[in-house]
Amino acid sequence: MKQYKIALIRGDGIGPEIIDEAIKVLDAVSSEEGFELNYNDLLMGGAAIDVLGEPLPEETVQECLQSDAILFGAIGGEKWDNLPREKRPETGLLNLRKALGVFANLRPATVYEELINASTLKPQVLNGVDMMVVRELIGGIYFGTPRAKEEDRAYNTMVYTTKEIDQIAIAAFEIAMKRRKQVCSVDKANVLEVSQLWRERVEIIAKSYPEVSLSHMYVDNAAMQLIKNPKQFDVILTGNIFGDILSDAASMVSGSIGLLPSASIGGRVGLFEPIHGSAPDIAGQGISNPIATILSAAMMLRYALNEEEAAKRIERAVKEVLKEGYRTKDLSMYDAKEVCSTNEMGSIIASMISKV
Ligand code: NAD
Repeated sequence: MKQYKIALIRGDGIGPEIIDEAIKVLDAVSSEEGFELNYNDLLMGGAAIDVLGEPLPEETVQECLQSDAILFGAIGGEKWDNLPREKRPETGLLNLRKALGVFANLRPATVYEELINASTLKPQVLNGVDMMVVRELIGGIYFGTPRAKEEDRAYNTMVYTTKEIDQIAIAAFEIAMKRRKQVCSVDKANVLEVSQLWRERVEIIAKSYPEVSLSHMYVDNAAMQLIKNPKQFDVILTGNIFGDILSDAASMVSGSIGLLPSASIGGRVGLFEPIHGSAPDIAGQGISNPIATILSAAMMLRYALNEEEAAKRIERAVKEVLKEGYRTKDLSMYDAKEVCSTNEMGSIIASMISKV
């Protein structure tokens, strides 16, 4: 039987409870599909600060690098908010991404017919929306130097090399080949030199993918188009800061932050996590929605372990459970037949796996 080693980072707040539910579903799907997952629990974020005084222990990095994939809950919370920047949980996550070399962040945004009323956008705008934001994750203005905060001025640097642009563009075109074969590259080439280079390189990479149609859009227009007509997008390719902002806007088509998964890939080991944070306001109450983490586990099966059928099964099970009217509290006002706890939602999806 095939065996995979999975690094588990439960983290803080709702992190541990949503990871528990993802494990239930992964165990159900692995026994159906005939492979075995061996989990390795690792400390990170506030949980690691409390025990070891640092957000990203070296042992966690080393264990992650020796795993087949990393499933991540969420980190952070008020308790650690006043620490210096380099000691904060969020810095640990940025450093983990960098250490893994995961340069491509994939965020799908899909509409579930059953939850179409959960979005603030009109149903006619949403019907049929299915897009993937491919965001460059370890370059651009979040990492560029020089950077400084002085008394009367502060600055950051947005820098991209041709190598960084090429590798994220290739990732986006490869994904488009498995989808509707459209890439929209988003930049600010009318103002920024870094975006002009971005555009030139994307054009060059596109030549190797003649089946994929490429368009370019300025980021301000893209923000508007995402709200006006999200159906027009298949794959959105963009840099770190633009992707950060646009993927949050795109997430609103699904209605709840508790539904949205992500994958960070392209490096030595992939990192799979829900897009939401540690939700300290609801932690420990049994009301968090585990679906974003369960769908992140499906992305892990697809992109890290190449277990496509298992990934599809999880996605079908989630869809079916939503169709049958099961909802966690965040979605309880949208056509709910039964409102369930975090724990119940995980169990219902896990038991659906053998039926879909
Ligand atoms: P958040 O995503 O944790 O929560 C925003 C709102 O969404 C809250 O009302 C929360 O209750 C709700 N929510 C989030 N996930 C949910 C779920 N699965 N089910 C139901 N409701 C859910 O964002 P925030 O409140 O701005 O940040 C809280 C902490 O999380 C901060 O410390 C922040 O730094 C951290 N954070 C971590 C990550 C990460 O681990 N990748 C990402 C974003 C924020």
